[in-house]
Amino acid sequence: MYPVLTNVRIWPRRSNVLQNLNRHCVSGRIRDYRQSVHQFGGSLSTPIDRLLHSVPSDSPWVFDVLMIGSGYGASICAARLASKLRPGRRLGIFEHGRERIPGEFGSNLAALLGESMRPVFRSDKRSLKNPLGLIDLRQGDDVSVMSASGLGGTSLINANVAIRPDRDVFSQLNWPSFLKNRDFLDPYFDRVACELGVQQDPVDHTAKMRTQRIAAENLRDCGAIYEAAAITVTRGAGCSLPILNRHGMLQRPCTDCGDCMTGCNIGAKNSLNYNYIPMAKRAGAEIFTQTEVTHIEKREGYYRVHFVYHCEVDGNPVPVSGTTTARIVVFGAGSVGSTELLLTSQDMNLQLSAQVGCSFSGNGDILGVIHRVGPTTRSGGFGAVETNGRKTGPTIQSSISFPHRPNVLDRVVVQDGGVAKAYVAAMTMIGMDFQIDHTQIVLVSGHDGSEGRIILDTDGGASIVWPNLYHHPRRKFNEDQIRLVASAIGGNYREMLPWKGKVGTVHPLGGCVMADTPMAGVTNHKGQVFDGRGGGEVGADGEFAIHEGLYIVDGAVVPTSLGVNPLLTISAIAERTADLMSREPKYGDLFAA
Ligand SMILES: Cc1cc2nc3c(=O)[nH]c(=O)nc-3n(C[C@H](O)[C@H](O)[C@H](O)COP(=O)(O)OP(=O)(O)OC[C@H]3O[C@@H](n4cnc5c(N)ncnc54)[C@H](O)[C@@H]3O)c2cc1C
Ligand code: SF4
Repeated sequence: MYPVLTNVRIWPRRSNVLQNLNRHCVSGRIRDYRQSVHQFGGSLSTPIDRLLHSVPSDSPWVFDVLMIGSGYGASICAARLASKLRPGRRLGIFEHGRERIPGEFGSNLAALLGESMRPVFRSDKRSLKNPLGLIDLRQGDDVSVMSASGLGGTSLINANVAIRPDRDVFSQLNWPSFLKNRDFLDPYFDRVACELGVQQDPVDHTAKMRTQRIAAENLRDCGAIYEAAAITVTRGAGCSLPILNRHGMLQRPCTDCGDCMTGCNIGAKNSLNYNYIPMAKRAGAEIFTQTEVTHIEKREGYYRVHFVYHCEVDGNPVPVSGTTTARIVVFGAGSVGSTELLLTSQDMNLQLSAQVGCSFSGNGDILGVIHRVGPTTRSGGFGAVETNGRKTGPTIQSSISFPHRPNVLDRVVVQDGGVAKAYVAAMTMIGMDFQIDHTQIVLVSGHDGSEGRIILDTDGGASIVWPNLYHHPRRKFNEDQIRLVASAIGGNYREMLPWKGKVGTVHPLGGCVMADTPMAGVTNHKGQVFDGRGGGEVGADGEFAIHEGLYIVDGAVVPTSLGVNPLLTISAIAERTADLMSREPKYGDLFAA
């Protein structure tokens, strides 16, 4: 399917030179990336001078469209809108984090701690110690949330799983009428799967997949179904030659190193910097990295956007404040990030639904460890440099599901997990009793009732309030699914220590959910932000009033937990939002048909 380049050096493949070879490979990956972005002037990011010294024009705004963030929602929307922009129009992307180069991701514990935006162990866990760090762990009393900051958002460190939720998820009350039937999203799911290069690994490709299959077979009487997961990873035809993907970027085949969660140093992970972001760039998007939006103000017919550019002087970030203006502002800063920005920005001119912050969900996530299982698992990642003939596999490769359970909320998925090399060391340190070759890591994605609330704390930062979530019957149910799998493979389930007694999630959803009315949500089904004045007024067109030109496209709009990993749903909704926005008659001067 992918054309293989012919003018590149063929690497020797003899195993006795493997270690040496892989060191070469890592620098080769950096070269691949540099070569790929050469066409864009050496990086996907635009020189900051273009932003800080914008040339004044007759227009009251600088950007016609400005995206905040560059995760799935923002990148997809940017790519689709940029490709339809009429000549002379400007689309910008402001991303808080750095542009990351495969080959340069840290792969030991010290490097990861250095990449943490907030202190992990100190009492002032909320303060920002490294504003340009890759990992954003927001630790709260009730819920802790992990995401990533960088060009490509959390796609840089996620587990690549891209699955559609059960159809019945969408028939729940909380979804807006236009999305109550999954048929309306299916064409967008297809489009995303194609752009992200979704594929499945062969049956029993790795030991942890095989262990998962054995578990499912032993649970057949409970209705368990085993399936290789759809993942966004590049595989090759059994050699390490670079592959030119459909977006003109060089990638390399996956080496099964297991380090997806700390960033792929091989260039095999189809993170957004390999697909939608180059698509947006090629169509003329201006991408400003290290640029954090602090708040926006509504003006007559446009928005003033306040930002901080994190300039680096001698390796230290130095903040430079600035403002710009945009006719359309699209929030794509992630569930917590977008909600935090909206809460910070609301005032008399920007009145919002009282639902801002409500309906937060952690997607029923439970991360568990099953110790001393019978079958071999080989769950420990080995990194890009050393292989020693091991094969861990991408972080998640398979799912056990229960699609025939009568209650949709009981239809959860239980997936195998690989531990990135750097975390194996960390887990051993915190006493998790690791016999890594006989430990099965499992992640459950399920349902949790979406009853969390994102609020602004006294320091102005977001935190999540959800008392008693740990004792919620749904959380207990989801945890029992791990016990079920443990019973099927003869191991002992143990809670993940750092989150014991608390809930941790890598799948934050909600906070600015879509709904039919401003009494029930923050945006309509098109992602347009409701005007909250008077509790939500109906305009002359019979529709609830909106703030013209203000959109949300990321995980914040998803109104329920999904029962599966969320990236594909967030992406499909973003594809639909961009499609509808570009066809709005009032934006006919911006977008070509
Ligand atoms: C370890 C891990 C594994 C995961 N595995 C999977 C998986 O296998 N499958 C799956 O479906 N999901 C997975 N997820 C979750 C998935 O990646 C997220 O649901 C998804 O990336 C969310 O997309 P988003 O568009 O909402 O925002 P994000 O991808 O979180 O992107 C938000 C971006 O906005 C930027 N930003 C935030 N605030 C500002 C600001 N003020 N100004 C400018 N920029 C800002 C951030 O820096 C970030 O880059 C995983 C997550 C983690 C952490
Ligand atoms: S397993 Fe390794 S090579 Fe494969 S996608 Fe994950 S990090 Fe990249």
